[in-house]
Amino acid sequence: MESSKKLRIGVDLGGTNIKTGILDETGAILAKSSVPAGAQRPWQQIADDIISSVKALMQQMQLTADDCVGVGMGCPGTIDSQNGVVVYNNNFNNWQNVPMAQYLRDALGMPVRISNDANCAALGECVAGAAKEYSSAVMITLGTGVGGGVVWDGKLFEGGAGGVELGHTVIETNGKPCSCGRKGCFEAYASATALIRDAVAAAKAHPESSLNQLCEGNLENMNGKIPFDAAQAGDAVAQEVINEYIRMLGEGITNMVNIFRPEVVLLSGGVCAQGENLTIPLNAYLNEHAYGAQHNPPPPVKIATVGNDAGLIGAAFLLNE
Ligand SMILES: [Zn+2]
Repeated sequence: MESSKKLRIGVDLGGTNIKTGILDETGAILAKSSVPAGAQRPWQQIADDIISSVKALMQQMQLTADDCVGVGMGCPGTIDSQNGVVVYNNNFNNWQNVPMAQYLRDALGMPVRISNDANCAALGECVAGAAKEYSSAVMITLGTGVGGGVVWDGKLFEGGAGGVELGHTVIETNGKPCSCGRKGCFEAYASATALIRDAVAAAKAHPESSLNQLCEGNLENMNGKIPFDAAQAGDAVAQEVINEYIRMLGEGITNMVNIFRPEVVLLSGGVCAQGENLTIPLNAYLNEHAYGAQHNPPPPVKIATVGNDAGLIGAAFLLNE
């Protein structure tokens, strides 16, 4: 391997697995590994497994530190990216002020940067996915909560220590309670959790709705797909749930567009399997509600395309900034 050809190492630390990859300058993954995260262990043990994974992949590809730009890592929780510190993370064993970047740097002898996993996924889409043709993007991840990342001029917009929290912007004052303690957050309406909550409530209020049959009589079977399926089959109750979900999602996205005015808005997360069932009404919503839309067309809303590796790819490119 010529030392002039710099490769990037990405790590995606999740609650279940530590994924590690070596990538070329285009974002292509040349080698990849995955080991269990063992999330409840002390952080040093997890960091030591990350170090072993990186070393094993480098050995497999016969690389030295000189061949690599460095290591980027995405991690859930509140990250102080500038100082490389995991400020707080309750997915793991109550991590507080963990000096992760320094620990990895000392062991690997390479530059290390860390960022929030949602940020890394947004950057990954800009490197190799649906935002490849754009230099600025806001990505919103619809999952258990609502996460997101902002990429500006090809770089992550990190904000100050702790980073941006797109999901915890209020779209309905005194609205539904949010996991963060406020009321009416974007997350409290646009997460998959919120969609499931509203679909269950609608099914209970309307025993005649096919939402009940699709759950086979047990509303614990409700998921983010069933309300879309029921609506498409003509169920008016389900259609109302979907309309309201799209409206609230549209409100939140309109705010993001009015604040950042990115070139593209990306959606990721399980709900996005709905594809055009989301993007068509959301683009219409933005065309109606984004500031000055009649004179200046708002950016398109698209579905993220990279999938599970977006976080790994984006992490590897944290070092490119
Ligand atoms: Zn909140």
